[in-house]
Amino acid sequence: MELLYKSTRSADKTVTASYAILKGLAEDGGLFVPTSFPKLDVSIDRLADMSYQEVAYEVMKLFLTDFTEEELKHCINSAYDQKFDTEVIAPLVKADDAYYLELFHGKTIAFKDMALSILPYLMTTAARKNNVKNEIVILTATSGDTGKAALTGFADVPGTKIIVFYPKDGVSPVQEKQMVTQKGDNTFVVGIHGNFDDAQTGVKKMFGCETLNRELNAAGYQFSSANSINIGRLVPQIVYYVYAYAALVHNGEIKNGDPINVDVPTGNFGNILAAYYAKNMGVPIAKLICASNTNKVLYDFFATGTYDRNREFHVTTSPSMDILISSNLERLIYQIAGQDAAKDNQLMKSLSETGVYGITPAMRENLKDFYGNYATEEETAKVIHDLYAKTGYVIDTHTAVAASVYKKYVTETHDTTPTVIASTASPFKFARSVMTAIKGDVSQYSEFELVDQLTAVSNVAEPAAVTEIRTAPVRHTTVCDKTEMEATVKKFLGIQ
Ligand SMILES: *Cc1c(COP(=O)(O)O)cnc(C)c1O
Repeated sequence: MELLYKSTRSADKTVTASYAILKGLAEDGGLFVPTSFPKLDVSIDRLADMSYQEVAYEVMKLFLTDFTEEELKHCINSAYDQKFDTEVIAPLVKADDAYYLELFHGKTIAFKDMALSILPYLMTTAARKNNVKNEIVILTATSGDTGKAALTGFADVPGTKIIVFYPKDGVSPVQEKQMVTQKGDNTFVVGIHGNFDDAQTGVKKMFGCETLNRELNAAGYQFSSANSINIGRLVPQIVYYVYAYAALVHNGEIKNGDPINVDVPTGNFGNILAAYYAKNMGVPIAKLICASNTNKVLYDFFATGTYDRNREFHVTTSPSMDILISSNLERLIYQIAGQDAAKDNQLMKSLSETGVYGITPAMRENLKDFYGNYATEEETAKVIHDLYAKTGYVIDTHTAVAASVYKKYVTETHDTTPTVIASTASPFKFARSVMTAIKGDVSQYSEFELVDQLTAVSNVAEPAAVTEIRTAPVRHTTVCDKTEMEATVKKFLGIQ
């Protein structure tokens, strides 16, 4: 059965999955959503015996119905191969009282690899299916991890160029070094004077600008997005929640049908939304625990029903979650409004004009499966320290936000349902913050000395992604003001 997609902001027009992937964002500024949630059509018991790649096919075939079996399997098998440093792709590690789903075994050691290793294959397949002749320009805003994962995925992919904007002073040293050393003639990296929200707003503005899109088309280009607003990123992320549940059954940790909770360190709301989609497909997920850092706009939203981005922005030790406008929340808003595009439109208009919107009591009722909380910087550091002291297992700062919120959840609710925590980055990506949490003041050491110390304490070999940047030359030095993003793009593309 064909599954179609529509925009969260208009009721009528539907498009195919491949078209939605190509466009990234709908023309009306909305996000593409499936017109219904498909249900898993193989049993969990069968999924429990499958490889990651096989589970990926069973999940993705239900969402990307205009891809042939051959096309989809080609995309999956090209993405999830030896680029990952473990055959299982996404290992589950039990530590203390939770299961950590390690989503950082890809090339750039953050969970963004889970979707961005496959997106270029989905995108080029979609371009072929839709007879696109233009070169595709991937325009991306990053809070640190999407940028490198997207650059790695799209580097030297024929028919594409990729331009990444990151907050110049808002990413970790390893994150920045990873991006500015990126190889590939079709890659462009720009630091902006501003934060992630500025970068994301600037990118969305370019997507929506008719004049710019016309100029691009005349020059033989068209934009697409590698951000989590693209359904081509969301769908591959659903896979690992299905896989995690099946793995728990396979390992005898739970019985088929038993509920689990899922706890996700959240920024743009893409990763946790994928868990919500998995739940809607029939995976027995009970609570969706949404963990924020001190940029706790989502915690306040779940607590009050009001989304208010008018607040101070904090730069934290979990920079990939330093976000005040969580784009993917719009997909949830649309859903809890009863798939009401007019309501969604009204709230998003209010968000862009005033920075605030409030949902109705009926909509709040539909949020019962979510639990929101946040962790302070001290709490985040403490959980890294304590987990290491107790078990020897080292987690990164983002995962630690989720681990800290999990403790709060259990204290508040006494709920003992087995819980999977999305472990979104390797601690090596945030060596300074992680070693500070474990040892105290480490300010006398360089970033790479801290990497060496982390190798010693964690008993984990240094990931290739880190070894690479020790010596890689800087290739990208462009920095611009947040008002100059469009001019910078035009310069890269040779458009006057
Ligand atoms: C992107 C990112 C997050 C936030 O994920 P969203 O899908 O934006 O909510 C959390 N942790 C890490 C390490 C990330 O890179």
